[in-house]
Amino acid sequence: MTTPSFNPPVRTLMGPGPSDVHPRILEALSRPTIGHLDPVFVEMMEQTKGLLQYAFQTENQLTMPVSAPGSAGMETCFVNLVEPGDKVIVCQNGVFGGRMKENVERCGGTPIMVEDEWGKAVDLAKVEAALEQNSDAAILAFVHAETSTGARSDTKELVELAHRHDCLTIVDSVTSLGGCELKVDEWGIDSIYSGTQKCLSCTPGIAPVSFNKRALEKVRNRSSKVQSWFLDLNLVMGYWGSGQKRAYHHTAPVNALYGLHEALCILQDEGLENAWMRHNKMHNALKAGLEAMGLTFIVDEAHRLPQLNAVSIPEGVDDAIVRSRLLSEYNLEIGAGLGALAGKVWRIGLMGHSARAENILLCVGALEAVLSDMNAPINTGAALGRVQQAL
Ligand SMILES: *Cc1c(COP(=O)(O)O)cnc(C)c1O
Repeated sequence: MTTPSFNPPVRTLMGPGPSDVHPRILEALSRPTIGHLDPVFVEMMEQTKGLLQYAFQTENQLTMPVSAPGSAGMETCFVNLVEPGDKVIVCQNGVFGGRMKENVERCGGTPIMVEDEWGKAVDLAKVEAALEQNSDAAILAFVHAETSTGARSDTKELVELAHRHDCLTIVDSVTSLGGCELKVDEWGIDSIYSGTQKCLSCTPGIAPVSFNKRALEKVRNRSSKVQSWFLDLNLVMGYWGSGQKRAYHHTAPVNALYGLHEALCILQDEGLENAWMRHNKMHNALKAGLEAMGLTFIVDEAHRLPQLNAVSIPEGVDDAIVRSRLLSEYNLEIGAGLGALAGKVWRIGLMGHSARAENILLCVGALEAVLSDMNAPINTGAALGRVQQAL
């Protein structure tokens, strides 16, 4: 018996990522593999860096894709910027702030936690108090778009606070890049990381990062070596740095980078601000449908992310059964709650290519059909009409 090839079903991905991959990207991935030092490939690398600068809205020279998923983008920022003994103020209002804490500890730093309830934005006053009480802190780290809850924090204000207290900033933009307003230079962000499989709608496995001059200076003047050989920017820059001279560091994921390049071309074709507006418009249509059913959002309107919609599960409804029926009967994936919100919310993603009209109609229609079949306490009959109006 031989093992047959793997042929995945075609799903509609409306969870917390990966999102639906645009067909142009799937096609790009299947182009011929060439050497990772081939001059033609190097030219594509340069274009990719330029396109990433556009997506991040930055002129930072050190703007590049790390050859590993978003979590490695996170580690790239922490292992390069946190030196043993450094105090780092870490904001936690969901899952990912907890991972930042882990990173700080593993780098030999001391995390000072500023905690907020899951579903709330990071509280500026608490951060200011922590900065005042820890005048020796070196870094402020926080998540712009908390994918575990759907809350957006006030990045511009947080960066300003950090700078007033002489701290560098590490910003998680894994779910925000390409999905909502993000301006690295205008907001003064010192270091930032993202992922490819959320609002860029690319395949998972690559992490765009960007460092400004101040952050890079800290990396260059470290008194100890970066604990990770693979993620040490001083070494990685020999391959991804500017100019045509490239030294082998690791073999870049050649085809995956074709995919990222294509994803960024798509973003450029649409226009960054148009992409932000589309996410907003689709969010409003989804919201109209969900609210017509009587479902409620857990994040207050002012801090709600358009690309990640966390809604409360109605009383008495079995979370897992609903999600499994959506998957088996409608080929539709939505996300479960994480951590403190497990079993309490669904997370409906509208990321990148997933943020389009046909997906909203499918999601609202399928959810209404499954919930009414299970006799859940929802209003039926109005949701799809409300979606159509909003679209
Ligand atoms: C998805 C995500 C990550 C981790 O990215 P992976 O590609 O899964 O490693 C980190 N932070 C946030 C906010 C995310 O949504």
